[in-house]
Amino acid sequence: MRFGTIDGRLVLVRDGLALDVARHGPFSSDPLDVLANFAAFVTWARETDYAGAVPAEKLGPPVPNPRQVFAVALNYRPHAAEAGFQPPDEPLVFTKFPSCITGPDTEVTLPPGKPDWEIEVVAVIGRGGYRIARDRAWDAIAGLTVGQDLSERVVQSRGAPAQFSLGKSFPGFGPIGPVAVTPDELPDRDDLAFECRLDGEVVQHGRTGQMIFPIDDLVARISAICPLLPGDLIFTGTPAGVGNRRTPPRYLRPGETLVSTVDGIGEIRQRFVQAALGD
Ligand code: ZN
Repeated sequence: MRFGTIDGRLVLVRDGLALDVARHGPFSSDPLDVLANFAAFVTWARETDYAGAVPAEKLGPPVPNPRQVFAVALNYRPHAAEAGFQPPDEPLVFTKFPSCITGPDTEVTLPPGKPDWEIEVVAVIGRGGYRIARDRAWDAIAGLTVGQDLSERVVQSRGAPAQFSLGKSFPGFGPIGPVAVTPDELPDRDDLAFECRLDGEVVQHGRTGQMIFPIDDLVARISAICPLLPGDLIFTGTPAGVGNRRTPPRYLRPGETLVSTVDGIGEIRQRFVQAALGD
């Protein structure tokens, strides 16, 4: 099952069609309400027909207003190595402040500095919970979606010790979508292929099976400390190939387009523009 939003309202998506959940079922239009009651929603979604569906156009983020957004640094060995670090013993968790979350097809104003790309698979929490055992972790997840952990490296690395969250939270720096896909519908929820292309050139590719801390492990470890709430997002880390570790380094420039694809989910597309004078 695939779900997303149009104008902030939850929709089911199938074969290019979108069905407004609140207009056709006994649910709220608010993704956070429905994700809290996800099992009932899945049961209804399996039975419903798509009479009254409209073309799935102008999809927004599957969760426009998550309460918590977790992100994980250095979760792939080659990326840890290119960044000059040993693979961590514990997940390195930071946040992307929720105001940076946007939809799948966007224009992003580049801030000054060194703006960079990081394709990531993003877990969307359904029922959630506190102290979730790893072998029950997938039950807490509603679906997976495609994301970019866009990062401005000057702000990200400013200070000693550096702190990540602000440099990763400029407006538009957390695009996700186009839909979230329930794990049962994915080819292999633990091993999805993905890639991102900058103006057509493949700059990153990998598989989620290469994670140091797989998705179920992240859910267990994060929920051991923070209760996971319906609609929370976990950006699960990026593989090698980011711009600031290239020789020479390469950063996002106005006019470029970044397309990020995860097999079985879809693609998101960001076009970058220069800040207008006075922005
Ligand atoms: Zn990242």
